[in-house]
Amino acid sequence: MLLVSSCLAGQEVRYNGTHCLHEKIRQLIDQKKAVSICPELLGGFPVPREPAEILGGDGGDVLDGRARVIEKSGREVTDLYIYGAIAALKKAKELQVSAVVLKEFSPSCGSSLIYNGEFTGGKVAGDGVTSALLKRNGIKVMSEEGFLNWLEERPDADL
Ligand code: SF4
Repeated sequence: MLLVSSCLAGQEVRYNGTHCLHEKIRQLIDQKKAVSICPELLGGFPVPREPAEILGGDGGDVLDGRARVIEKSGREVTDLYIYGAIAALKKAKELQVSAVVLKEFSPSCGSSLIYNGEFTGGKVAGDGVTSALLKRNGIKVMSEEGFLNWLEERPDADL
């Protein structure tokens, strides 16, 4: 069983009410091989919501209290991101997932690149808050591209 970002499954849960569907990921949901979550909704955010980015580091730094998550207008929302990450971890453990596939660049879901905190579209290497917490708990996290490449090499993989 996989856990996947809801927006990759086609749900309109992004900050601006859009999705970023990957057909293969939706197929896995239909086949009951994956379950979707949106850490930001689990943290208590509505749709739509203000965009937010990590200031001063990445998701691991947020968990360690060295960085903060800030909305574009300046409101600090660090706690809600951490709540969402904890809820996502709980779900991953309940389902005993083999891996988690999360949307790259997001301050929650990014797993190798995230927006750089300047709200300019620039990116830096690092994890989102949920990815960081999952990785710290020994759970395999992949981006959508990483997962699709992985799957291409293992079409018969037992998910
Ligand atoms: Fe998608 Fe993750 Fe952002 Fe939710 S928090 S909209 S699942 S990238």
